[in-house]
Amino acid sequence: MAEYEAVIGLETHIQLNTVTKIFCSCKADSWMDPPNTNICPVCTGLPGVLPVLNKAVVEKGVLLAQAMHAQLRELSYFDRKNYFYPDLPKGYQISQYDMSLAVGGYLDLPMPQGYMRRVSITKLHLEEDAGKTKNEYGRRLIDFNRCGVPLVEMVTGPDLRSADEAAQYLIRLRQLLRWLGVSEGDMEKAHLRCDANVSVRPKGADYLNPKTEIKNVNSIDAVRNAIQTEIARQVREVEAGRRVEAWTLEWDEDSATLRKMRSKETEADYRYFREPDLLPVRLDEDWKQAILAGFPELPLERRARFIEQYGLPEYDAEILTAERSLSDYYEAAVRAYGGDPKRVSNWMMNEVLRMLNERGLAAGQMKLKPAYLAEILKLVDAGTINMPTGKALLVKVEESGLAPGQIVEAEGLAKVSDEEPIRAACREMLAENPKEVGTYRGGKVTLMGWFVGQVMRKMRGKADPNVVRSVLEELLK
Ligand code: ZN
Ligand code: MN
Repeated sequence: MAEYEAVIGLETHIQLNTVTKIFCSCKADSWMDPPNTNICPVCTGLPGVLPVLNKAVVEKGVLLAQAMHAQLRELSYFDRKNYFYPDLPKGYQISQYDMSLAVGGYLDLPMPQGYMRRVSITKLHLEEDAGKTKNEYGRRLIDFNRCGVPLVEMVTGPDLRSADEAAQYLIRLRQLLRWLGVSEGDMEKAHLRCDANVSVRPKGADYLNPKTEIKNVNSIDAVRNAIQTEIARQVREVEAGRRVEAWTLEWDEDSATLRKMRSKETEADYRYFREPDLLPVRLDEDWKQAILAGFPELPLERRARFIEQYGLPEYDAEILTAERSLSDYYEAAVRAYGGDPKRVSNWMMNEVLRMLNERGLAAGQMKLKPAYLAEILKLVDAGTINMPTGKALLVKVEESGLAPGQIVEAEGLAKVSDEEPIRAACREMLAENPKEVGTYRGGKVTLMGWFVGQVMRKMRGKADPNVVRSVLEELLK
C-alpha cells in the first residue's frame, strides 16, 4: 500500500478583545447577552448610517501581524464582500481583500516529537463578524449581537502535515493571542474559530489534490479529531480508486462524524469591491512606532532564552513560558533570589503552579509576590526554616499577603535546632510510649522513624529532624 501524507491549511477567525465593535459603539463581547440586545442601526445595516472605524481594532491587528512576522502595509483598504445570508443584514460583509493590513508572515511550531514546523501565513486581514442563526421552536432564529464584532481573519499556507500539527498551530496561536493581550483566544466562546482545508497525496509528492473544507469545529480536540477522520476517509477514497471531491464538510461533535454541507463556492462569487463609506487606513510611521513601543519578547524567543540564560531543561522552559505573566513572575523571582534558577523553577512548577491551579489565579494576581517566593527560598537555604515549613509558608503568604519573614516571626516557625526544647519533647514522648520503647530496645530499631515523627508532631514541625534523631538515639541507648 502506498504511503500518504496530509496537506492541511487552516483558516482562523480571531475575535479581538476591544471594548466596542469595529464600526459602531456597541459592546464587542456579548457572549452572555440575550439575543439582539447589543445592536444598533450601524451593525444591523439600516439605511442611511455610516460605519466609523475603531482605532483599537487596527492597533490590535498591528500587534498580531507583527508577532506573525508579517509585513505591515502603510495603506490598507476595506472592501465589501457580497453574499446573501440571513445573519448578514447588510447583504455584504465589510472585510479587506487585496490591500489588507498585512502581507505574509509565519508561525513556528515546536512539535513535541522534537522537530520544528514553520507555517506560512497567506492572508491576514481585518473584518467584521456576521450574526448567528439557530433552529429553535421549529423556526430559524437570528441573533445579530455578533454583527460588527472585530475579527482578524488569518489563513495559513498548506504547510501542516498532520492533525497534531494543526492542533499545535492552534495551541501556539492561542498562546500568542493571550501573550499579546489582543484576544482571549477561547474556542469554546468563539473568540477563535477555525476551518480546516484537508487533502492527501502520496508522501513526498509536490502537487496538491482537491481539498475538502471542514467547518464547525469549536475546540482544539475537535479540530484534531475532525482532521484525523477526514484524512482516513480521503485515503480510503483514493485507495478505492475514487476521486476526492471539493466538498464543504460539517463536523458533528456528538457523533464524531463529518457531514457534507455543500459543494464549495469560489472567491469570485463574492463580487468584492472597495467599501465607499470608509477611508483607507493610513498606518504612518509615528502611529506604527507608538503601537509597537513595548512590543514584548515572544513566547518562543523567551523559551529559548530561558534555556540559554538560566540553563533550564526544555521541559521547564516550555511550562514557564506557557503564559506571559508566569514567565514574568519566574524572571522576577530569579532576580530577587540571586541563587540557582533551576531551584526557583522547581518550586514554581511544583508548589506555585499547583496553588495557581487550585485557586484559578494567573501568576500576576498572586499575593505571593516573586520577591516573597525568593525570600522563602532564602529562609530555607539559610536553615531558618525547614522545607515543609517553607512549602506551608507559601500558602500562608498567599492567604495573608504578609511577608514571609513576618509570618515566621509572628508564628514562631523558625526551625528549632536548640537541643534543650528538643530534649524535653523527646523525654516527654518516650515517657508517653513505654510499650514502643520496650519493643525498640528489644531490637525493633525501625521504630526510630516513628519516634522522630512523634517528636516532630509535638514540636509542630519546627524541630530539626537530625537533631531529634541524635537526641533520641542518645536517650534510648
Ligand atoms: Zn452597533
Ligand atoms: Mn472571514
